[in-house]
Amino acid sequence: MKKTALRIAHFKDSIFGVMSKLARDNNAVNLGQGFPDFDGPQWLKDLAKDKIEQGHGQYAPFMGTPSLRSSVSSYYKRFYQLDYNPDSEITITAGATEGLFISILGSIDPGDEVIVLEPFYDSYVSSIEMAGGVAVPVTLHAPDFNIIESELMRAITSKTKMIIVNNPHNPSGKVWEKNELEIIVKLAIKHDLFVISDEVYEFLVFDGAKHFPLAQFPGMRERTFTISSAGKTFGLTGWKTGWICAPPDLTKAVRLVHQYVTFSVATPMQEAIADGLNRLEDYLPEFRSTYKAKRDFFFEGLKKLGFEFSIPRGTYFMMVPIKSKTTKNDVEFAMELVQERKLATVPPSAFYLKSKEGQSYLRFCFAKNQSTLEAALKNLEGL
Ligand code: PMP
Ligand code: GLN
Repeated sequence: MKKTALRIAHFKDSIFGVMSKLARDNNAVNLGQGFPDFDGPQWLKDLAKDKIEQGHGQYAPFMGTPSLRSSVSSYYKRFYQLDYNPDSEITITAGATEGLFISILGSIDPGDEVIVLEPFYDSYVSSIEMAGGVAVPVTLHAPDFNIIESELMRAITSKTKMIIVNNPHNPSGKVWEKNELEIIVKLAIKHDLFVISDEVYEFLVFDGAKHFPLAQFPGMRERTFTISSAGKTFGLTGWKTGWICAPPDLTKAVRLVHQYVTFSVATPMQEAIADGLNRLEDYLPEFRSTYKAKRDFFFEGLKKLGFEFSIPRGTYFMMVPIKSKTTKNDVEFAMELVQERKLATVPPSAFYLKSKEGQSYLRFCFAKNQSTLEAALKNLEGL
């Protein structure tokens, strides 16, 4: 029998699938994989139904519908004063995951090095490896997940072609300050690097935190693939619709890959999201306050149970330190919790290549119904 590709021989099942299966098998409350356990806004679901009724049943143009590319362009202008041409600088993808993959495949040659800031979203490294590139980790150090400029400088070699930044940051919930982003900006320009800025949680910021797209910084727009996703912004992860904003030469590269990976993305969803993005100003205040209330409730609950950490200012995740509760590492403790406490989390060591810091944390997703969060806290009582 022939063997399947060496390229993927060392890949394992993604930690998200593993933990969601363990949650199902153990009948556990699931705060692991990052998705809301409630649906997105009714008005957007109604719009999608209308779009299906109106037709839109055939392939969309491969780069995305004119309506959605125009809405994406418009919101970058309204929120960030960034001007992207819908025809030559915006591409619609099957979620941010495809956006990441095709940006990497379109710009990385075998042997090129790509800097990943760990802890990272797990698809980064697999996508780099599928392109034949080499992922070079630089650690964002717990508990504040700060970047250390000298460590980043040391990781850059003559082979470095790209750096991937995620802001707001999964799994820590960190929202990057301007002066921290300037460290990336300075080195990306100095070494002429491509940058992927994964901004899928751009609108999930709390307590007055401000999101700064990397493309806003002088010298960055021309080298940056900015990636986002309706899945996060509208709490509809199953709709799998995302986008890449990038200058024409980079857009050309991602489209060449995209046409052979997916060709195009579900047409009615694009049409509905196009209308949805035009209503962001009305929608976002309630979206943010809903998630903020969940964050506050769950954080207070964990605090009462004796977990001590700073409240995250972005995303729907918390990195919770476990050393005061157990001598086990993250994977062992996650197994104990899911089997004996009926609570699924994510052991974050899956998000690291180098540092062992993840072994002292578990990631919790708080994008859940009140009853789910209450059940999770109850299952943790008396630890
Ligand atoms: N980037 C980050 C940081 C994520 O957390 C996720 C997943 N939720 C994605 C990208 C992928 O988003 P999508 O579901 O749109 O593919
Ligand atoms: N991004 C989500 C998380 O971090 C999960 C995405 C996935 O399951 N691929 O949990």
